[in-house]
Amino acid sequence: HLSERLATVAGYVPTGSRLADIGTDHAYLPVNLAKRGVIISGVAGEVVRGPFENARHEIDREGLSDQITARLANGLKAIEPGDQIDTVVIAGMGGALITQILTQDFGRLEGVNRLVLQPNVGEMNVRQFLMDHGFSLVAEQILAEDGHTYEILVADRQPVVHPYTADELRFGPFLLAEHNPIFIEKWRHELARSQAVLKQVRSAAVVPVDKVAALEQAIAEIEEVLHRVS
Ligand code: SAM
Repeated sequence: HLSERLATVAGYVPTGSRLADIGTDHAYLPVNLAKRGVIISGVAGEVVRGPFENARHEIDREGLSDQITARLANGLKAIEPGDQIDTVVIAGMGGALITQILTQDFGRLEGVNRLVLQPNVGEMNVRQFLMDHGFSLVAEQILAEDGHTYEILVADRQPVVHPYTADELRFGPFLLAEHNPIFIEKWRHELARSQAVLKQVRSAAVVPVDKVAALEQAIAEIEEVLHRVS
């Protein structure tokens, strides 16, 4: 059984795919997908030894070591050409780290047609990366679990026809169109947070003008979108 968050991620892994789950921790995701016959094979990548051992243990325990290989490696270095990986999942990290992992060894994504990414924060970085690297969003999901809000971004290798607008990069083209109550709640919360930060920043002895401008811009964009969707 997966959490709702991981189950939603799993739902975007195509049947018959060869999956790399980067930052797999306990390898729950690839194990679940292999047991249900969704993936043909998988690589469970981890950069930290403890979680790597957990992954290996879980894969062995489920008798899946022929199908899923745990690798101790930094990011996409877990992927080897012989794996014929076509789908990559990176879930449960910040958007900046996800983007860094994807950028660092972009060449290893050669045979990859689908990315399923679940940034905990900083989704804008991820969308910008996708647009700049020939991947197009095909779906987005937002969900709330255990007091956190999670976004899941699904992208296929196909050039972005129209560059995303500033709003689309910040809020997500699919989420903007959907008006999900969780989306509205997230951005109300984000608006209040940004307003509090702005107040604090403005009261500093030396006011950082760039930061004030960026916050004002973000606040204006959020207010505008909330006005439109709620
Ligand atoms: N993907 C799982 C999930 O969504 O439930 C686990 C998320 S866990 C919060 C993040 C995992 O990513 C940690 O186990 C961490 O060691 C791993 N990680 C962080 N940076 C990594 C990197 N550069 N390469 C591989 N794994 C990484």
